[in-house]
Amino acid sequence: MYKAKAYAAPSQTSPLGSTNISRRDPTDQDVQIEILFCGICHSDLHQVRNEWKEVMPTVYPCVPGHEIVGRVTKVGAGVTKFKAGDLAAVGCMVDSDRTCPECQAGLEQFCPNFTLTYNFPDKHLGGVTYGGYSDSIVVDQRFVLHVPSNLNLAGAAPLLCAGITTYSPMRHWGVTKGQKVGIVGLGGLGHMGVKFAHALGAHVVVFSTSPNKKDDALRLGADEVVISKNADEMQKHAGSFHFILDAVSADHDINAYINLLRRDGNVVLVGAPEKPLAVSAFGLLMGRRSLSGSPIGGIPETQEMLDFCGKHNVTADVEVIPIQKVNEAYERLLKSDVKYRFSIDMASLKSE
Ligand code: NAP
Ligand code: ZN
Repeated sequence: MYKAKAYAAPSQTSPLGSTNISRRDPTDQDVQIEILFCGICHSDLHQVRNEWKEVMPTVYPCVPGHEIVGRVTKVGAGVTKFKAGDLAAVGCMVDSDRTCPECQAGLEQFCPNFTLTYNFPDKHLGGVTYGGYSDSIVVDQRFVLHVPSNLNLAGAAPLLCAGITTYSPMRHWGVTKGQKVGIVGLGGLGHMGVKFAHALGAHVVVFSTSPNKKDDALRLGADEVVISKNADEMQKHAGSFHFILDAVSADHDINAYINLLRRDGNVVLVGAPEKPLAVSAFGLLMGRRSLSGSPIGGIPETQEMLDFCGKHNVTADVEVIPIQKVNEAYERLLKSDVKYRFSIDMASLKSE
């Protein structure tokens, strides 16, 4: 066991601050990583503020962060995938049971016994797992990903959650050339959704509450932008979408988007607001429409997504911040004021 520097929230109402945490020494299958960048996901904020208390109550102190890239510093004797000096990445999961049908299918995100990167029982040290707002982490090689060497590292970190969470449902439901695809909410997830849908050849329409994001949406790959508060603009798209990805973090009217689907169209929720959404039965049944959800993605698909990003040179648009600005960043997230992901430069932790 050794001590690592980290930023933690001591309680649901207190700001994050500097602390020391214990990490295990790498065992046979483990990879030890010096964390270089960690993205800030809105899930970090939900979790730190215990907004998901019904499903995943937060244990304090909480060290969030599941968009991790870094460099391997040490590997266990049985590690074959990595060596010291390699680039490496870790996303939302650090373990699973590896034996259930989901794990065998490479769909670890559905394993009933998975271990999330933070706020989950830690099988090695007891207590809960601690995430990437830290200078190092130790993870089983099976849950460590390779980062294509051409990618900017600060921009690559968000791929580990915002990237895979938007890539996976588009692949699963077969988003392809010629389809009309909507992306709701131009935040961290939404802006990756735009990049992937555009790269897959779809006609992409962004729905945003922020008129000042219009030019960016077009630059990121959207073909059209709709300001969702404008009912006339919304109405023009009624009954026309094959697929809509909803990446909104707060309460909103989901029926407005269900009504934009064509027959057999599908709204996929990736956003995870604190409160349940009210769904009108008629919106769904009139067009045999679907409302679905999708969590992150499995390890093989996460590697596939990273390789796709390497090939197409896709990364997140990031604002790089020192860890000392994390509390301010959370406040800005709540105001939809991020273009389009905060990425923490973990070198800033050295001065703590
Ligand atoms: P984010 O960067 O804060 O983006 C959320 C966007 O939602 C905002 O930029 C804003 O876009 C829109 N929005 C915010 N409040 C709104 C409101 N009241 N009404 C309508 N639109 C609103 O958050 P994120 O990191 O992308 O995460 C988005 C959600 O996905 C969070 O709930 C997060 O927990 C969840 N998530 C789920 C998974 C999964 O596995 N399914 C993985 C990661 C994250 P505009 O300014 O364009 O309107
Ligand atoms: Zn996330």
